[in-house]
Amino acid sequence: MLWGLCITLGCVILVAAVAWWMMIHMPGRSYRGELPAADEDLTAISNELHRVIAYLAIEIGERNVLNRPHELARAAKWIEAEFAAAGYTVNRQEYEVSGCNCRNLEVEITGATRPEEIVVVGAHYDTVIGTPGANDNTSGVAAILAMARRFSNHRTNRTIRFVAFVNEEHPYWSHRENGMVATAAARLPEPRSLSIVTDKAASRRW
Ligand SMILES: [Zn+2]
Repeated sequence: MLWGLCITLGCVILVAAVAWWMMIHMPGRSYRGELPAADEDLTAISNELHRVIAYLAIEIGERNVLNRPHELARAAKWIEAEFAAAGYTVNRQEYEVSGCNCRNLEVEITGATRPEEIVVVGAHYDTVIGTPGANDNTSGVAAILAMARRFSNHRTNRTIRFVAFVNEEHPYWSHRENGMVATAAARLPEPRSLSIVTDKAASRRW
């Protein structure tokens, strides 16, 4: 009886430890101490991130199909213009939800040597109802736009696809209306593709 209890407890602890290691543990060490002074590049990135947050979260604010469809469309238009200004041809993946025209916005750098291997770098641009979504997820959009600008003049071996997704938030999270499900994800050629989705990029704990 006691042995059985010990074995069960040991198994539970082992499973918890493996789950922590594989799902929560972050490799390396967090930086501590004074931050170094920002150099020119870092200052430029900081300014870019601020500009995106200021426009999408403050100027436009809440944006979603159910409450603020007009603002959702404004955000999409602005993000599309940002991708275009960085030198990309923007592919719109349009579909309709509750009478609202929704769209993912996608740009791509075709890989030079392994174009069939695709790295998707994405972020959703809709917001939770009642919030301006500065962190969730304007921060993610700001991050992928900054990356897209820096990659725009480079050739990469693999294909890199930057995608601003629509309808990630409730009530669409697990439904076909979710931009990640509705179009882009379905178009990923398997098996050698990788998706990196940034959400709440400004959070310390995400
Ligand atoms: Zn989110």
